Order: sequence, then structure tokens, then C-alpha cells
Amino acid sequence: MRRLRRCKIVATLGPACVDQQTMIDLYRAGADLFRINMSHCDHAAMRERVQMIRAVEKEVGRPIGILLDLQGPKLRIGEFAEGGVYLTKGAEFTLDLDPAPGNAERVRLPHPEILSALHPGNTLLVDDGKVRLHVIEVSHEKAKAVVDVPGQISNRKGVSLPDTEIPVSSMTEKDRADLDAGLNEGVDWVAVSFVQRPDDIAEVKKVARGRALVMAKIEKPQAINRLDEIMEISDSLMVARGDLGVEMPLEKVPGLQKRMTRMGRRFGKPVVVATQMLESMISAPVPTRAEVSDVATAVFEGADAVMLSAESASGQFPVEAVATMNRIAEEVEKDSVYRAVIEAQRGAAPDPTGADAIAMAARDVAETLELKAVCAWTFSGSTAFRLARERPEPPVLALTPNRATARRLSLVWGVHAVVTRDAHDIDDMAKRACKFSNREGFSQEGDRVIIVAGVPFGTPGATNMVRIAFAGAER
Ligand code: PGA
Ligand code: MN
Repeated sequence: MRRLRRCKIVATLGPACVDQQTMIDLYRAGADLFRINMSHCDHAAMRERVQMIRAVEKEVGRPIGILLDLQGPKLRIGEFAEGGVYLTKGAEFTLDLDPAPGNAERVRLPHPEILSALHPGNTLLVDDGKVRLHVIEVSHEKAKAVVDVPGQISNRKGVSLPDTEIPVSSMTEKDRADLDAGLNEGVDWVAVSFVQRPDDIAEVKKVARGRALVMAKIEKPQAINRLDEIMEISDSLMVARGDLGVEMPLEKVPGLQKRMTRMGRRFGKPVVVATQMLESMISAPVPTRAEVSDVATAVFEGADAVMLSAESASGQFPVEAVATMNRIAEEVEKDSVYRAVIEAQRGAAPDPTGADAIAMAARDVAETLELKAVCAWTFSGSTAFRLARERPEPPVLALTPNRATARRLSLVWGVHAVVTRDAHDIDDMAKRACKFSNREGFSQEGDRVIIVAGVPFGTPGATNMVRIAFAGAER
């Protein structure tokens, strides 16, 4: 089965899709990669989902990626004697370490490291930004603040600190345990939440040791300030518009999304656009015009993937939501303006490496000769990442002996991966690339394809060969 679009679809799993048939339906409707959100999942449920995805993979005969999303440091206030209080504009309100139930004057914030990091003038947002305060006085035990935007706050609501750098790692104890458990299950990608600095990613990479690729969720202004460095060390970015839109003015999010999709293109690393893409489909079988336009915009920008959250995890129409995204992406990519936009974003020349130069040349040849596919033999997947960076007009067929690589590539723009044993010589390489290209529906007898590889085989990172071949080699 092949997709008729380059942009990939990530579907978050949750209570709306616990049985295997729904997951098969989600895959068939267009989900290329499944996200397991550790904010709402224990280890047993995570393991069960991983096993189910692997079973779906067998059933549909295609590699499917799994993204383990770590919860990260979500700060929460304590509890109130009355369950909650209404904070009026201009009122003073204190956050402290006292476990006693809160009232209209104070509540507990059980994070001493946060209290010590606050400074007068810093903003505090409660409950996804519904209530806003600013700090006027701080000590190690408490922070006194004044209410700027009034509203009700209640037990264990989340707190965001858009302009305070928190001196703790973005990995909590829970995240560490979740990461270990996920790596043991062989997840393909790990997403790090509330990243503030490159070190947050370095820490996860150190634990992962190449067993999974690492995605930085960009949802804090502190990460925006160091985006280049974070991109440098990460394998991928998520434009996490949910929290980003809480911690920054909402109207800044679209521009930041464009910045990130372009940056991903420049670095040759996948970018996922996430949150509220088809929000109304949580409870309706059709989306709004604005939502369709939002998904289309991400596809036009050349995002590697668009993501569904509650729409697939807990909504009433999970399969319809995936099918809707699929239709939008297919239609955008057929639009005559699409290629022009993708071309216009080509930007600077690639890095001066053999792999990049060959990827560029392969695209050039493939487009000039209108070849049906760019076939890439790749062990680590890096040749396929470099080809995707070029955004060639024909699809990229990645051939790999490594199942983990094939699964990882499910996130990457335009790449269709197939697991097969390594080629033993150049003729075998050409012959089998053609065979798979025909079998997977990219070409027919007599069509031509281009093949990219590194010879001798089995030496990672040595892309050094391009060959044009007739996809009729089975004769
Ligand atoms: P979340 O991340 O769904 O885990 O919060 C995505 C976002 O914030 O947009
Ligand atoms: Mn988030």
C-alpha cells in the first residue's frame, strides 16, 4: 500500500482507539505514525499499545513508526479548602510551599526550584493561560503576585512560566522511567516536552544511545530564543502549538510555524505541525473551513507531518479525522501552486558533503528525465533524510535491511520505506530497486527510476553513487 501524498500523518492514540480494528482503520485511512502520549498513559497501557501497533504493522504489511511523547515538567498548583477560588483583578495572591489547603490569599506551589527561579515582573499563567498574574515579591519560600487577568482557579491546575527560565532539566523522574520503559519496547521516536535549551535534548540522547531518534517539542519562548542550537542537536522538531499558544501571544504562532518548517527544510530534519488541526472533529464528523485551511497551510509549507491529538485519541470521529487530513494533503499536493511553493523554499545550497551533493544531483536528474522514483539504499536512513531535504518531485523509495530505519522514516516527507536484505553487488542493487519500485506501485515495466547508494555496501554515511535504471529488470 502506498500513500498518494508526501506529507505524513501522525495520529495520537487514546481511549477512542484501543481496539486493534480501529487502529487498522486509522492506518488505512492515512495514519503513518502513532503517538503514545505519556501524560495519559501508564507503562502497562504503553506496552499494550506498542504491541498492538506492531500487530497492525504485520496486518497491513507496512513499517509504522511509534512516537513516545514524554510528559515533561508540567507544573501544578496544590489544592484549595473549597476546591477553587475566584481571583479578582488587582488582587494580591501568594504561591508558597505550605501544604495547607489554599484560599483567596494563597495556594501551594510544590516546586521550590521554581519559586527560587522567579523574579519580580515575571508572568504566571494558570489553567492554560485563562488567569494571568505577575510576580511582585519573591523569597525562597514564596512568591507574591498581582492578578492581571481575573478568573477562577481550582485544584491542581497547570501553571506556565513564559518568561522564567527554570533551572531544572526538562526531564522529570517520571519522564526518565517512561523513557526507559519506551526504549525497552523499541519505540522509534521520543518527543521531549517543554524543551528550554539544547542540553535538554542532549540528556535524552545520552539515555537513548541511538535506540530512538529524538524530537524537540517547541512550546516555550525559551526554546524559540535558542531554536538554531536546539535544531542542531535534535533529530526533529514539533511545532507544539497548544502550549506555545499559551506561553506566547497566539498571533505569533503562525509566523513561528513558518520559521520552523523552513528551518527543518534547511537542516534536513522533519518538522511536525501539531494541535487543534481539526479540533472541531472531536465532536463533529466534518471540520470547519478554517481548520481545512490550517491543515492545507502546513502541507503547502512543506511540513513533514501534520498531527492529530484529541481528534484521534479521544474524539468521536478518529478515523474520519485521519481520512479528512489525508484528503486535504492529497488535494493540496495536486494543486499546481504546491510545487511552486515547495520550489520557492528551496533556499541555500546543501551542506558540502557527498550525501547532500548526490541528493541534489539525484533530484535534478530525476526531475529532468521525469523519472518515476528516487530509490535509495540506506542503512541508517540518512541518505533518505538527505533526499527528502531536496523535496524531489518523484517519491523517495527507501530500501533498507534495517526495520528500525524503515519505521523512523515513516515521519519523513515523501519517503516510502521497504525492508529488504542488503544488496550484494551493483547489479543486484539496481535490479531489486526496480523490482520494488514496480511492486510498490511507483513504476511499471519500461519506466525509469534513479538509484542512490553507497558502495561498498554496509559502510554507513558513504553515499557516493547514482544510477539510472529501467524498471523492467524482472524480464
Ligand atoms: P501536548 O503537546 O499535546 O503534549 O501538550 C503538543 C502541544 O502542546 O501543542
Ligand atoms: Mn504541549
